[in-house]
Amino acid sequence: MRTIGFACSSAEEDLAPFHFDRRNPRSNDVVMEILYCGVCHSDLHWARNDWGQTCYPTIPGHEIVGRVIEAGPDVTRHKVGDIVAVGCMVDSCQTCDQCRRGEEQYCREGMNGTYGGFDVVEKTPNMGGYSKHLVVRQEFALKMPEGLDISKAAPLLCAGVTTWSPLRTWQAGPGKRVAVIGLGGLGQMAVKLAVALGAEVTVISRSDRKKQEALALGADQLLASSNEKAMQDAANGFDLIIDTVPVKHDITPYLPLLDIDGTIAMVGQIGPLPESSSLPLVYGRRRIAGSLIGGIRETQELLDFCARKNILPDTKTIAIQDINKAFDELEKGASYYRFVIDMSTLKED
Ligand SMILES: [Zn+2]
Ligand SMILES: [Zn+2]
Repeated sequence: MRTIGFACSSAEEDLAPFHFDRRNPRSNDVVMEILYCGVCHSDLHWARNDWGQTCYPTIPGHEIVGRVIEAGPDVTRHKVGDIVAVGCMVDSCQTCDQCRRGEEQYCREGMNGTYGGFDVVEKTPNMGGYSKHLVVRQEFALKMPEGLDISKAAPLLCAGVTTWSPLRTWQAGPGKRVAVIGLGGLGQMAVKLAVALGAEVTVISRSDRKKQEALALGADQLLASSNEKAMQDAANGFDLIIDTVPVKHDITPYLPLLDIDGTIAMVGQIGPLPESSSLPLVYGRRRIAGSLIGGIRETQELLDFCARKNILPDTKTIAIQDINKAFDELEKGASYYRFVIDMSTLKED
């Protein structure tokens, strides 16, 4: 089907209007009219070919909320008019042990990305959510629970579940001491969710500058990593540290902050870590772990939890025509809120 989006044609060029064909819907597919799409740091990396894997033209966007306007004859989960959401995946093998466990992000065949992946039947590159329509198999469309403000909820699909999954995996809850490093799009979600789960929450930041922000999000305290005395006093103080810093950084100073059997989960940076000593790991059975988004079941659990607890990301709504400005701001790391594109600003002609 013919539709329109905002695409980039090379790593150097701005995103611009682009007419293209979505695949023709198959019997198990829904067609969505996209209403909102969040702007994730990965979108920027992908658009600029920072990972060296981008093929152009490409349309980023994997925090997608929309309305079902067509449902194939085999679709049982959704009907026309339903508000649904799509995150970072649009397909997986559905048969391997990981898919059967509901952890499609770790599919043995590789998950199929909302952008970056290729359609398994037509072999065409998947185009993301900065567009008017999306065709997706029903299993990868999540149900938007009533009561969740759909104009703000989109970032839950990537930033939200990326922090929710490690919080659930390492059982954040009452009596657990959770620290969050970094207070960007991922960090603010990690804090809000950990607080709502009942954990005791500390934000770790370079200085005290973001203290008010941290407390406003519900954190109990802020620990300034530049304050040596405070860092020493905090030793053995956490069961779980969620590290959301998106650039290469040294995690050595954080390891002694973990209690025995504590875990630091990396969710921001993907790539080499600077050299670090195994000493705090060995002397304390501490773990360095990683975590990738979350499965479909976990994502649905998150959406339902946020609706129940009235949790939403801090967002700033923009028109699609402002996407290049938003990318610039994201690159500077200036914004703490998440941009969400109001897709009604994208006109069909
Ligand atoms: Zn993302
Ligand atoms: Zn699989």
